[in-house]
Amino acid sequence: MRKALVAGNWKMNGSLTANRELLAALDDAVQGSDAVAVAVCPPAVYLRDTVAQLQNSPIAVGGQDCSDEEAGAFTGEIAAGMLKEVGCEYVIVGHSERRARQHEDSAWVARKFAAAQAAGLVPILCVGEQLEDREAGRTETVVSEQLNAVLDAAGVAALDRAVVAYEPVWAIGTGRTATPDQAAEVHAFIRSRVARHDPAVAEGLRILYGGSMKADNAAGLLALPDIDGGLIGGASLDAEAFTGIVNAAVAARARG
Ligand code: PEP
Repeated sequence: MRKALVAGNWKMNGSLTANRELLAALDDAVQGSDAVAVAVCPPAVYLRDTVAQLQNSPIAVGGQDCSDEEAGAFTGEIAAGMLKEVGCEYVIVGHSERRARQHEDSAWVARKFAAAQAAGLVPILCVGEQLEDREAGRTETVVSEQLNAVLDAAGVAALDRAVVAYEPVWAIGTGRTATPDQAAEVHAFIRSRVARHDPAVAEGLRILYGGSMKADNAAGLLALPDIDGGLIGGASLDAEAFTGIVNAAVAARARG
């Protein structure tokens, strides 16, 4: 069985003091949750402190983005190798907020994906449709385009060392969650697309759901066979809410 992953995307939130308190509470709460991998992705300036505080913790650390370049004259950018050097295990690539605000297209995201893997990080590749895409029946077309960019550039074997997060854009930060049926349909679609290239890679691929996942709706989503955890925004800033999701994932895995 795939080991579920619950990853918190803190986005541009936190402070040294608030992070310390949140991480201490999370670390206490996740002890004994070994059936599920847990990660936090704080803003880059807090990564070193986060890694230091979690030195003896099962909680892994990830970046929220990385450059597609290794080094050089790219003001403000952070190389995947730098994230690795300070102790990151994961990095989110292609988050919809960056696709929208920084105009990252799928080819660029695929280069970031490759840069992350070249540095030894596990990329968390975000894919997902806008509301107008869903309403126009284009969900699968959009998700395929985002996935294919990586499959074409990196090859299916690269997904062996990666995580995909299905995040319907209309559900992110809106309080509007995809129904379990809507999520299940797209997760199964993603797995089937990968299986066309390599069934074994598809079977092992962790596909997370992201979009207003909270402790009270997590159980219904995480019980579904193709949902292998969550990428959590808002609820990851609250120890109780995030732990509730981790516990839902542990319970879902225990039920098989
Ligand atoms: C996200 O930004 O990846 C996310 C899922 O946010 P939220 O949980 O707040 O919808």
